[in-house]
Amino acid sequence: MKAIQRFDAETISPAKPVTRQTFDEVMVPIYAPSAMVPVRALGLDLWDQQGKQYLDLTAGIGVTSLGHAHPAVVDALRTQAEKLWHVGNGYTNEPVLQLARALTDATFADRAFFCNSGAEANEAAFKLARKYAHAKFGPGKSRILSCVNSFHGRTLFTVSVGGQPKYTEGFEPLPPQLSHIPFNDIAAARAAIGDDVCAVVVEPVQGEGGVLPAAPEYLKTLRELCDTSGALLIFDEVQCGMGRTGELFAYMGYGVTPDILTSAKALGNGYPVGAMLTTEAVAGAFKVGSHGTTYGGNPLAAAVALRVLQTINTPAFLARVKQASATLVRKLEQLARDYPQVFAQVRGSGLMLGMVLADGWRGKAKDIIRAAEAQGLMLLIAGPDVVRLLPALVVSDAQIDEAMSRLRGALDGMLGALPGAGK
Ligand code: PLP
Repeated sequence: MKAIQRFDAETISPAKPVTRQTFDEVMVPIYAPSAMVPVRALGLDLWDQQGKQYLDLTAGIGVTSLGHAHPAVVDALRTQAEKLWHVGNGYTNEPVLQLARALTDATFADRAFFCNSGAEANEAAFKLARKYAHAKFGPGKSRILSCVNSFHGRTLFTVSVGGQPKYTEGFEPLPPQLSHIPFNDIAAARAAIGDDVCAVVVEPVQGEGGVLPAAPEYLKTLRELCDTSGALLIFDEVQCGMGRTGELFAYMGYGVTPDILTSAKALGNGYPVGAMLTTEAVAGAFKVGSHGTTYGGNPLAAAVALRVLQTINTPAFLARVKQASATLVRKLEQLARDYPQVFAQVRGSGLMLGMVLADGWRGKAKDIIRAAEAQGLMLLIAGPDVVRLLPALVVSDAQIDEAMSRLRGALDGMLGALPGAGK
């Protein structure tokens, strides 16, 4: 029998020492994290257990967009932590109302729903779309269309809507009435959006699927097709929203307005929060009791998100994102020219960028990010063939230069290690 440990009521026992090995002993094995364990971070600098410094161009997968421990965000959290943490949905609270007011003032939306993650924001969006269509058109209108290789979260509903079979295998039976169409394929969308479709969901810039921006014409056509067929258009801006493309939300740059928009990740800069934004008419399909969550709209999360929104949604901040993007793209394109055997293309939008690997290097994205990490640079992958960069939006030109130099060091090391290969 396993011995159960209890804490001493009189003293707070220090936590037991842990290492990366502890992960393999006590965590459900759904991730394969890096060998280094981050312990502290500020801005784009991060330090591991051994005190080694890294330049973080991942922002925790597009989350810490204002950098780690941004003083304004820390201040918002600290101030709220001393006032009110949680009240439950039997009461509302000031921070959540201020956040809802600020988000609806800043976007097409009239109404906001808050939750704790991107998956939950999408889950709410899909449920709302079904409820709206059933009330307006009857139960036959329930199909949700999404794009091949899209990613909308890991609940059973959202992972089934996302078009990646590797994430749904073994979890069958999956929710019915879901179909997938190729991304950016206008003809396929025309053929698929029929009377039984209640919603079309799309990431304006596909993230996990390989950092692929939607073509403007594609989103415009989806809007038209949804209008004609009575389907709702849902933009999943969990990764590409909150300033990432240089607009507060990507839809603003496209000039195509969705009926529902979902946000999470950077909305809380690391404090878990998600939001579903929609119009008055669509929100009206939900009544008291239709949906809910204990923590959604929690005062702590709301106070943080409000401060994040206030910081990001200024003309100067967003202009700087575009400027930093231009600089980073220029340097990445130079890098791709200098290492043509490794990189075929640079693509993306704003500070959501992907370097597509050349044919001879296909499948090696993870090897590159491991080599970069050894040089003190944190990068991401987007599938096996794309190295992804999601730096904090506050990245400086000097940090971009330093990142390029560390990445070149990593590539030189990899190329030097190849038998008979020069640079
Ligand atoms: N939607 C998109 C576009 C995402 O990139 C992600 C996460 O990567 C999600 C939804 C799911 O968000 P979460 O992991 O917060 O549930």
